[in-house]
Amino acid sequence: MINADPQELAKFGELAHRWWDPESEFKPLHQINPLRLAWIDGLCPLAGLTVLDVGCGGGILTDSMARKGANALGIDLSTKPLKVAQLHAMEAGTANVDYREIAVEALAAERPASFDAVTCMEMLEHVPDPASVVRACAELVKPGGWVFFSTLNRNLKSFLFAIVGAEYVLKMLPAGTHEYARFLKPAELAAFAREAGLELHSAKGLGYNPLTQRYSLNSDTDVNYMIACRRPA
Ligand code: SAH
Repeated sequence: MINADPQELAKFGELAHRWWDPESEFKPLHQINPLRLAWIDGLCPLAGLTVLDVGCGGGILTDSMARKGANALGIDLSTKPLKVAQLHAMEAGTANVDYREIAVEALAAERPASFDAVTCMEMLEHVPDPASVVRACAELVKPGGWVFFSTLNRNLKSFLFAIVGAEYVLKMLPAGTHEYARFLKPAELAAFAREAGLELHSAKGLGYNPLTQRYSLNSDTDVNYMIACRRPA
């Protein structure tokens, strides 16, 4: 049994051709990318590192980590976004970036402890068994390496902001993009990470201001948030 929801993969496949259009459904990912990239690179300077991006989609984060000098591999289980990611790397002339269609659990069995850093952003909330993804990420990182996750918190505020606001009022995302029941509280994600042998380093919130239409990094993890973990050396 593969840990994926075919409907979720199909949803991203249908939109794939618009992935690199900064005004498309993927606008929020384009907007948050410089913020998350700077946070990751600040904790774990990427130049020269071997990094894995799990659930990479069209490669917005993967490509930007390669442009920081990392040797980056992006994996996903949706075929079209991966093709778009490859095409983008060719057109943009991004060096040191590669993409593969493989489950994170399968890659963990194939080459454990082989990445200096693993990122898994905005993906866990689309997967049937997120704890299994967290475990695989922990197996893939080298001792002493970093693992970064981002997802959506589960509470009334995140329901109102991430589903009602983003999908129905502001129409920033297509209706049905997110399923509330799959959102993860920071304590739940932290427990998955600890059970996988990772140490929690820090957390950041990603806030959206609908008036200025800008995102910012803050300490409010109520809606969209990221956590940084380390595998003990
Ligand atoms: N991480 C990227 C894309 C987020 S969109 C970014 O933040 O920019 C969510 C991605 O997760 C999609 O590309 C989707 O195909 C992928 N995904 C969903 N379920 C998956 C699974 N089980 N395994 C791998 N990727 C998955």
